[in-house]
Amino acid sequence: MPIKKGQVELIGTERKISLPYALNRRRGLRRLRCSLDFQGRLCLAVPWSCSENQAWDFVHSKADWIAQRWQEIQQEPGLYEFLSKQKWLSLDGEKVPLRMIQREDSAASLRAASVKEIVLQIPSAMETDRDFVLREIILGFARRVIPRRVEKLSQESGILYNRIAIRDQRSRWGSCSCSGTLSLNWRLCLVPPMVQDYVIYHELAHRRQMNHSVHFWTEVSRCCPEYKRFDTFLRQKGNRYMRLGRTGEA
Ligand SMILES: [Zn+2]
Repeated sequence: MPIKKGQVELIGTERKISLPYALNRRRGLRRLRCSLDFQGRLCLAVPWSCSENQAWDFVHSKADWIAQRWQEIQQEPGLYEFLSKQKWLSLDGEKVPLRMIQREDSAASLRAASVKEIVLQIPSAMETDRDFVLREIILGFARRVIPRRVEKLSQESGILYNRIAIRDQRSRWGSCSCSGTLSLNWRLCLVPPMVQDYVIYHELAHRRQMNHSVHFWTEVSRCCPEYKRFDTFLRQKGNRYMRLGRTGEA
């Protein structure tokens, strides 16, 4: 699958934008498709029989839609604003209230003060790289709390795993290696608890089926009967979450 990458300039009715693109030629594709990915990159899927000029004509005809979507992504609130509004994190299968405290002389920290509250302390003089610092501390928090949720769900489902790694994946919620390592995204602390559980069950089910066959989904529904609802949630809103904590990165 040849992929061509670069930068494209688009002139919409109201604004001109320049954005990165990835042009992907695919056999078996019937029509041209374009979308913006979680980073705001233009992804262009081109049928094998279609010329590159036709593909770019198509993109330019959609310039207004692309420019508007791109602008929406640029204006999305960052991690700090997201947390200030949401006011909870997923912890041990519950939405636990999050209290954010700004202190002049404090280092950033995040701790579960009780089963009923998580306290996030941030220095008040931290404007520029605030989202970067927040990401680091929530990642550390996720490393402390997600493994025990995995352990619990593993016991309940009777599916064993080998190791857990909590990481900052750019687009995936989780993965499962042949050796039994479950890699999970720290952003699972930000999504509703049932969605977090679904992702854990999904990766555990890969211990039995390393594919997305009917047998795999049967295994998922055994552990998580309402999985379709949560899978839809991630399909519809996942990209928005994936953009959180990416400030200043390419
Ligand atoms: Zn999967």
